[in-house]
Amino acid sequence: MIYLDHAATTACAAEVVEAMMPFFREAFANASSVDHLPGTAARRSVDDARETVAELVGAKPEDVIFTSGSTEANNLALSFGGPVITTRVEHPSVLDPLAARGRADDGFVSVDRLGRVVIEDLQERLARTRGTLVSIIATNNELGTEQDVETLAKVIHDASALLHLDATQAVGTRAFEMRNTSGLVGISASAHKIHGPKGIGALIAATPLRRALSPIMRGGGHERGFRSGTLNVPGIVGFGTAARLAIKKRRERRERLGTLRRRFLAMLRESLDIRVVETVADAPVSPHILSIRLQGTNGRALLRATRDEVAFSLGSACATNKSEPSHVLVALGLDKHAIAETIRISFAADQPVEEIERAAGILARAARSLSSYSLSA
Ligand code: PMP
Repeated sequence: MIYLDHAATTACAAEVVEAMMPFFREAFANASSVDHLPGTAARRSVDDARETVAELVGAKPEDVIFTSGSTEANNLALSFGGPVITTRVEHPSVLDPLAARGRADDGFVSVDRLGRVVIEDLQERLARTRGTLVSIIATNNELGTEQDVETLAKVIHDASALLHLDATQAVGTRAFEMRNTSGLVGISASAHKIHGPKGIGALIAATPLRRALSPIMRGGGHERGFRSGTLNVPGIVGFGTAARLAIKKRRERRERLGTLRRRFLAMLRESLDIRVVETVADAPVSPHILSIRLQGTNGRALLRATRDEVAFSLGSACATNKSEPSHVLVALGLDKHAIAETIRISFAADQPVEEIERAAGILARAARSLSSYSLSA
């Protein structure tokens, strides 16, 4: 089986599993039990991981609020007390909490056909509201499109507003400097997207954002009162280790992913007469995600025809369970026909190029036999 769905989740790195193991048995103490030595040791390991996760996004360790992942981190960010502006190409973990807020002064900023925020529209909207939080997906999980974070942060800061980034798909391939980027006050991240374990992530929230949030989990007051509950020490240690690896290898992984992505596309194009259309061809993209349309080939039929050999997806893992068309592709203005033919391939940097080539061959063969598109069409 060739796995090409790394935007849905990644395998844990060997170093991550190794670092986590002692915390299940020998070093199992509660990180809040600081009255004894085993508890203090667990706390120290959590503190080390907190520092590394902060370093991953250029923030301060005290800004890190560990959560169960980005879904929870986004929900916490959306507990913001003032108005929130976001886009229609966000993950459901932003869109659903936004809908639940039911605030009349919340709203959507337009995106262009590549899924990038229309800056003039954002400026106009910010001029009309005060104390707004702008929540934006840094790298789109269905498209790969990367937002221009520097410009966004500047525009938002100039309007005395705050920027939160859902950077779930971004932290593995892009560097962020939260401390040195005025306006950027919040970042959501999930460990399992960067070769860490599932069920652990963080909202990294600087003081101006933290001041305006409400805890969604109340109890013993863990994580500065924002997220009560016994800390998931093995998960946190795993996240820290994955973050350390990401910091070290980010640039190298990005280059390698670019090579795999280009090779895959080239092979598909070489072996298919039908047109292979990139959904966001001229956008700056994260190289681990490729959204493409094989014209004349229904995506779901392709998925079914290749299911024993290749694992990929139609959109996000969340959208795959639903029968409605992807809200992201709808927001870009694609019609139903184009959406039905769009698939998402996502890579990991340690995949051998031969595997990628083999997968492209399998998809091409299946698409050829399924395609209703003829050369003359
Ligand atoms: N935001 C984005 C952009 C994502 O891709 C995902 C995962 N698909 C999430 C949020 C939610 O992450 P998790 O499922 O780890 O909570």
